[in-house]
Amino acid sequence: MSLKSRNAVITGSTSGIGLAYARALAAEGVNICINGFGDAGAIEAERAGIEMEFGVTCIYNGADMTKGDQIAAMVKDAETRLGSVDILINNAGVQFVSPIEDFPVEKWDQIIAINLTSAFHAMRAAVPGMKARKWGRIINTASAHSLVASPFKAAYVSAKHGVMGLTKTVALEVAAFGVTVNSISPGYVWTPLVANQIPDTMKARNLTREQVINDVLLAAQPTKQFVTVEQVAACAVYLCSDGAANITGTNISMDGGWTAA
Ligand code: NAD
Repeated sequence: MSLKSRNAVITGSTSGIGLAYARALAAEGVNICINGFGDAGAIEAERAGIEMEFGVTCIYNGADMTKGDQIAAMVKDAETRLGSVDILINNAGVQFVSPIEDFPVEKWDQIIAINLTSAFHAMRAAVPGMKARKWGRIINTASAHSLVASPFKAAYVSAKHGVMGLTKTVALEVAAFGVTVNSISPGYVWTPLVANQIPDTMKARNLTREQVINDVLLAAQPTKQFVTVEQVAACAVYLCSDGAANITGTNISMDGGWTAA
């Protein structure tokens, strides 16, 4: 069975990996609800571009992933305007790099809210429809930091470890209803999230830009290459396929071998 005419909500899809998920699923004929922040004109151009290029319906909902009521309303909005939410990708995420003793409390709260709690709210809202229709795919963008830690990333590493616990728990709850729940854990993917943390890492570790890229970021990845957003999106398309119907409650690492070490 193809994915044509399925409907997907993808959080944090105005940029980076989320946008790649949206485009890859749209290429399979999936209607899309994109979400995230950014310039209104640029978001509208992406939304209209996806409709035109792939011949699907693409809507935008600007729900703030720190607000549970807005997340639930976004799922309802997609169910109303698209007809259902068959695929949910919890992807919105932010990063902040600081030694624990200086870590701003509001940054901890924000990262836990966006990177972990938002997935709880979105699943809570989307699971009833998936169970009723006996089909669903939930994919959480976790990270190599769901498995291993790096210094100065207390909130991010904690949130991503939490995402894996949430993935496994909900997978068990919905396993008998044709709904799978998995995480994809990329290593370093070249996106604005990675580019934006270079200055802070330079400061925290007293390094040059080149040293951060080669000795900190790619030092962890034995392939010595950044993962591409298209590779992550291709994995999500596979997890949505019938061939992946018995893959649930697990984590797929795409980290160039990082967590094998
Ligand atoms: P990105 O900065 O390019 O995109 C993040 C998206 O989240 C954007 O669309 C942004 O608008 C949205 N967002 C941020 N705060 C939001 C909020 N409060 N409400 C709604 N949307 C919000 O980042 P990315 O690299 O594409 O990251 C996507 C996901 O992949 C994140 O969960 C990140 O932790 C994870 N990840 C990234 C990498 C990497 O190397 N880039 C590696 C592993 C995991």
